[in-house]
Amino acid sequence: MDLRNGFDIKRYIRTIPDYPKPGIMFRDITTLLADLHGFRAAVDELAWPFLKGEIDYVAGIEARGFILGGAVAHTLGRGFIPIRKKGKLPARVIGQEYALEYGVDTIEIHADAIKKGDRILLIDDLIATGGTAGAAIDLIRRSGGEVVAAAFVIDLPDLGGAAKLKSKNVKVHTLVGFEGH
Ligand code: AMP
Repeated sequence: MDLRNGFDIKRYIRTIPDYPKPGIMFRDITTLLADLHGFRAAVDELAWPFLKGEIDYVAGIEARGFILGGAVAHTLGRGFIPIRKKGKLPARVIGQEYALEYGVDTIEIHADAIKKGDRILLIDDLIATGGTAGAAIDLIRRSGGEVVAAAFVIDLPDLGGAAKLKSKNVKVHTLVGFEGH
């Protein structure tokens, strides 16, 4: 929750109640991304702990993690690695299943995207239960990479995702928090 320059990122995040289903408060970052100051502040704040150069690649989770992760990679002067929904990547992949509220989903990474010992910063827009990011961490580790940290604009601390990642020995960097779901 480190906002060095005092820019109020939270103000630019729009909440849509009951989307995509009743009871969910959807935290919509399109309003943050559309604001020139908001987008820059979010990217700079995600990137600043990693400016010293201990990162080899930024990995982003489809789809909002691509927008933020691509910009963070550019800011850090590093390459970007996409982690995609099943069936989207063209070359050989490795996949990781993770639990949803009902059923399972799979994310994939190119099998040759990460070399042994590569140091990775993982980016997504929001961490809730940590299921998605946890699967991405497992994929990166199975590829031989080291997850230096995972960074998100939004934390929903009541859902325990950040704590889950910390229990996997991953440093977690988040910019704003919202109570509840
Ligand atoms: P989880 O795997 O439970 O940590 O959920 C994180 C993923 O689901 C991220 O890719 C988010 O974009 C999306 N997500 C989960 N809950 C919300 C929410 N309340 N508002 C917006 N996106 C959400």
